[in-house]
Amino acid sequence: MGDFQGGWSTNGDQRLRVKVRQMIRRVSPQDLISTARHSQDFRNSRAEYISIRIRILAYLFAALALLWIPIDFVLMPEMHFEAVLGLRLGFSTLLILLGTWSRQCNRLRAARARVALFLFIPGLFYFGSHQVLGGLPSNGVLIGYSFLPFLMVALLAVVPLTLLEGIFLITLSISFFIVTNWRAGSLFTLATMSDFWLLSLLALIALWVEMTQLHMLMRLYREATRDALTGLVNRRVLYTWLDQEVNNRTDKEGHISVLLFDLDLFKRINDTYGHLAGDAVLQTFARVLQTVLPPGSLVGRYGGEEFLAILPSTDREAARQAAESVREACHGASVRHPDNDDVIHFTTSTGVAERRVDETAGTLLGRVDQGLYEAKESGRDLVAVAK
Ligand code: GH3
Ligand code: MG
Ligand code: MG
Repeated sequence: MGDFQGGWSTNGDQRLRVKVRQMIRRVSPQDLISTARHSQDFRNSRAEYISIRIRILAYLFAALALLWIPIDFVLMPEMHFEAVLGLRLGFSTLLILLGTWSRQCNRLRAARARVALFLFIPGLFYFGSHQVLGGLPSNGVLIGYSFLPFLMVALLAVVPLTLLEGIFLITLSISFFIVTNWRAGSLFTLATMSDFWLLSLLALIALWVEMTQLHMLMRLYREATRDALTGLVNRRVLYTWLDQEVNNRTDKEGHISVLLFDLDLFKRINDTYGHLAGDAVLQTFARVLQTVLPPGSLVGRYGGEEFLAILPSTDREAARQAAESVREACHGASVRHPDNDDVIHFTTSTGVAERRVDETAGTLLGRVDQGLYEAKESGRDLVAVAK
């Protein structure tokens, strides 16, 4: 099998598994429009990021609404004060509840609901206060009550959102403005039209800023989770995946196997052919793994010349066969030295372990490491199944 001939750069036609592909792609316009192509890990991270921001903002606005009460007391006509006070207390209570609910969340659906509620609550306050105040206070001391829709739209820029999410939330904010003005009979006045125009401009800017935030977050996330040399995910992501596979499975009896690969006498390859040749071997081996392991396998660089593959729904025997296929593929793989036409061959030793019922990710990794150690001890270029 001579399919894996590497040179100094083995980018190109690598066949990546879905999760890995999602992890290492550059940020594309589709990524900014909807979440359809976002990886599960990124969804979870963004959900956490959004939830933390909403929590801070909810507490902040709850406090600001209460701090404004003395100002209302001094400036507001007496007949309105009590009703607006009631609204303010309700507004703050709802925001405090939202802040409390927004703790530790990595589910995107819940995070989206939090952003929507964060806009919905001020929307209700805006609507309610204008009902109480009997029309839109467009000047004087109550003008602050007309600013809320502008504030709501501007605040959207604080969270990283896709275009579709942004459009939905902006529509929600603006609909409070429209309904409130419609109820007050001032929807088609020149002043409302000009406010609407301003609101739309602000909405466009907020959309742009929130998508820029999403772009930056996604880029940094990808840089932080992939290995620059091979394009595979790094150890941190492997841990997360393994932990998820082991802990979050509803089917506790389901098979999961892990394979730990370590290139044999790799230091010698570096010493003989140079470090760049070693790098090319690592890239070629990564390509072997992506191509030979069964679809659905999660592969990453565990460190140095070690790679880990997680094979969901795979028992020990199927995992051993997969490891054997990789071992044999390495025999046919090679890297050509550009200067002297040397052909560099390499082999791998592999530990295999299937998760036992109720075994933790840590113990499983310990056992697969033991399997790898046995493969090395027994002479290298071998597969050893852990006990
Ligand atoms: P064994 O068969 O027992 O695994 O022997 P080995 O030589 O492969 O193991 P050892 O741990 O002694 O050496 C691993 C080498 O891998 C040493 C290190 O310089 C090299 N290495 C680690 N990361 C990289 C890398 O990114 N590029 C290159 N070229 N070499 C690397
Ligand atoms: Mg090693
Ligand atoms: Mg080694």
